Amino acid sequence: MKYKLEKPVEASIGLQKYTMEVHWRNGKFTADEPIISGGKDLGPDPFTLLLSSLGTCTLATLRMYIDRKEWAIPEISIKTNLFQYKKDDKTITTFDRDLRFSSGITDEQMEKLVEIANNCPISKLLKGEVVERTFIFNEDQTVKKMFYRNNSLTVIWKPAICKHSGRCVTGLPGVFNLQEKPWINMEGAEPDQIKAQVDACPTGALTWESNPTYPS
Ligand code: SF4
Repeated sequence: MKYKLEKPVEASIGLQKYTMEVHWRNGKFTADEPIISGGKDLGPDPFTLLLSSLGTCTLATLRMYIDRKEWAIPEISIKTNLFQYKKDDKTITTFDRDLRFSSGITDEQMEKLVEIANNCPISKLLKGEVVERTFIFNEDQTVKKMFYRNNSLTVIWKPAICKHSGRCVTGLPGVFNLQEKPWINMEGAEPDQIKAQVDACPTGALTWESNPTYPS
């Protein structure tokens, strides 16, 4: 399975309640909790980020469709919100989207645009089956290292902190194969593919370094 994002979204929090720094592929921003929850409201809270995700995905999907149809709709805006209630020990969440178009649209266009909005990628994700996995990596662990080399690259594996999530195995089976010995075959893919898969290891059990080059 290939991850949607080449670079994962990284976030960290220190002791200041509840300022969080979020790094995405092209920059960083601050997230926080609202004052009512004990934060300082210095950035969007997690619910706002979730609603922003749905809102922006809806807008981008509609823009692509409208442009392809060459409809004269220069601007679209959206308001998103959600409410929740409990039913049989389950939390039921309803997302509402209010769309506004800067020019008049026909009933037929409106019907199609609602269908497109309801099928934007984030809508599909929210309506689909979601699996959450959490892995813990403790920086303090000092562990045994195993080394695997090819001409240009060395992959280092720390078995004691490998959580056997299998991400490497599913991501690059030509290199990472638990049925083989050694289980890492450094000739099974291009060095850049190996590096990318090693970087995707969630626990830090896998790292890589370039081999030194010596003058001939
Ligand atoms: S991705 Fe990392 S933690 Fe998961 S099985 Fe591979 S080495 Fe272990």
